[in-house]
Amino acid sequence: MIFFLSCFAEQSLEKLEKEKEDRFSIHHLNDVVLITIDTLRADRVGAYGDKLAHTPNIDLLAEQGALFRDAYAVTPLTLPSHASILTGLLPKNHQLRDNAGFALNPEITTLAEILSAAGYQTAAFVSAYVLHPSWGLDQGFSHYPDLFHPADVSQVSAFGEAEVPGADVVNRAIEWWNNTKGPRFLWLHLYEPHTPWDPPSGWKGDPYRGEVAEADLLLKRLLKAVNKNALIVLTSDHGEGLWTEGEREHGILLNEAVTRVPLIVRPPEGLSGNEHRSPKQRNEDVVRPIGVDEDLNLDTVLDQPKAARIVDSYVSGIDIAPTIAEYVGVELEADGRSLKSLIEGAEKEEFVFSETLVPWFHYGWHPLRMLHNSQMKLVRGAKDVWRGADESQQVRVSEQIEFFFGELPTAPGPLEPHIEAALTELGYLTTSVSVELEDAPDPRDKKEVLLEIQRIEQLEAMEAIPLLEDLWSKEPHLISVAIDLSLRHAELGHLKKALDVSEELLLTQPHQPTALLNAGLLCLALKDLDRSLEHAERLISLNPLDPRGYRLKTAVFVEREDPQSVLIWGKKGIEVAPNDPNLHYLVALAFLFEEDASQGLKYLGKARTLGSRATDLSLWEGVAYERLNQIDRAKEAYNEASKLMVSDLRPWVMSGLMLAKAGRCDEAKPLLINAAKRGGGRAPALQKALQLCTK
Ligand SMILES: [Zn+2]
Repeated sequence: MIFFLSCFAEQSLEKLEKEKEDRFSIHHLNDVVLITIDTLRADRVGAYGDKLAHTPNIDLLAEQGALFRDAYAVTPLTLPSHASILTGLLPKNHQLRDNAGFALNPEITTLAEILSAAGYQTAAFVSAYVLHPSWGLDQGFSHYPDLFHPADVSQVSAFGEAEVPGADVVNRAIEWWNNTKGPRFLWLHLYEPHTPWDPPSGWKGDPYRGEVAEADLLLKRLLKAVNKNALIVLTSDHGEGLWTEGEREHGILLNEAVTRVPLIVRPPEGLSGNEHRSPKQRNEDVVRPIGVDEDLNLDTVLDQPKAARIVDSYVSGIDIAPTIAEYVGVELEADGRSLKSLIEGAEKEEFVFSETLVPWFHYGWHPLRMLHNSQMKLVRGAKDVWRGADESQQVRVSEQIEFFFGELPTAPGPLEPHIEAALTELGYLTTSVSVELEDAPDPRDKKEVLLEIQRIEQLEAMEAIPLLEDLWSKEPHLISVAIDLSLRHAELGHLKKALDVSEELLLTQPHQPTALLNAGLLCLALKDLDRSLEHAERLISLNPLDPRGYRLKTAVFVEREDPQSVLIWGKKGIEVAPNDPNLHYLVALAFLFEEDASQGLKYLGKARTLGSRATDLSLWEGVAYERLNQIDRAKEAYNEASKLMVSDLRPWVMSGLMLAKAGRCDEAKPLLINAAKRGGGRAPALQKALQLCTK
């Protein structure tokens, strides 16, 4: 008996030692999964009380975790809101104040960097171009694939629209998860509920809810793949207006519809409990224009959450990173606070801040700021709208809101000083905003204009153009109206008119990245190469990490038939966007032009692996192999090209000539005869090849 006991004691001592060791080894750290479903309103999730929602997987997560009843996005904009989620910082501190024209400063510390330093394997899979690695959110992620095809994102309109199908993103995430040893930090971003609301076929009813249901279904396999020990955080970057205060989507206004988001935290092993709240009415002023979005069900949803634990305190997107950091046991300096104690049962209310500068940057309207808790609320624009605060509280809230907002930026940036100087010399204004703040109208007083803009968005180009022209002449600060007008002209093939609009806009908005790209592409199409180059350079200086400037610049040098410059700028572009097939393709052609066939071949191969859609890729591979004297491989490549370039005789003729030169006339003749029959009989190369073979 004594023997047995001492053995037992020894064993448990050993076990204790082992446990102590494990606790300090990284293998003991829990996996972390952060899921952001873009544009998801809290009141469109079943666990928050929506009877029309079909979100069984999110609801199941809530059954095992804490549901935050009043969680708010820092801003109703994808890029800055995600920056706050991933850093724990207010926009004034991470400095991303809009989707376009900003990128995260490398000096800012992200949660991914901290976790990576703590030994985590880190990966992000995002489905919207707004979160492309070029804008800096990839900091700290060792895997952040660029899943966007350049052909899809080189268009001006692509910025907010380009998306990768959610299923694709989820598959990649699961594959990474299964092939990676822990501890793992995974960030998955789904874009389904964002416009266009295009639910899967078979969905009946409200199309927005259909997209939410689709996102929920996509999560099913991922949540199954993730183990019980993982910490799972599910949230959104902002909500959706759905015509609240007259806003269809999000970005311009600040209210509950666009800022209140779901936040569900399932700690490792989950929580037990079963809490619910009695139904609460949340009033929203919904005005839907007649004949628009009639298939959306906009009836108010009662707030009646159900979860293992419900937290009533007001919380913010900036609290997410500190919460994850505390669970993992690492330090993170942040503006937000950890919510761990709230998840474990405490309640502690803080003021929650949100802002939007879209009215300021895109419409010449006053920016909006919002500060609230369960007792009081201020929404500040050109005017203040209060709820529940007495006079002395108003002073305090007023000070707080200014502190959280920081300084008002006048332009996206940063801009290199020499470009700024050159612009000033050319008579450009150096701020992007041409309105004085004191004169800027309050967006809430521009409801009629807002409704008109949104009505025009639904019209065909022919109908929309005169209305946009009219609106722009009446309201010259409506940048987004001018950009839309230019795009609508281009849609009808009126490139000159489109360019005129864009150039006129750039006179007052020289730093507007969308207008710059648009003008640059239009100049390229109209063969005004000098001007196109100028726009490309300004785009690059605005954000040296934005690959679009390099693409445009490289394309200009292709048009100029300047292979040296194509090489220089194409390679610079590849440094910024290493997965861009078009840049690889262009650099390959420049190498071939410069008689460096093996480099050309290398870049063509890379373009192919990266999914290039260039139809003449095989033809150029043939040329490269021919120059390297690898006749058989060249023949194969030309043969491949002839299948892809059906109406083009070059593959036949080039292959025939090559074989004739090599004295392989038996193989050359059928190709040449075929080319001649198809109408290429007079081509000098074909004549020459035939001569070689008839000697
Ligand atoms: Zn978003």
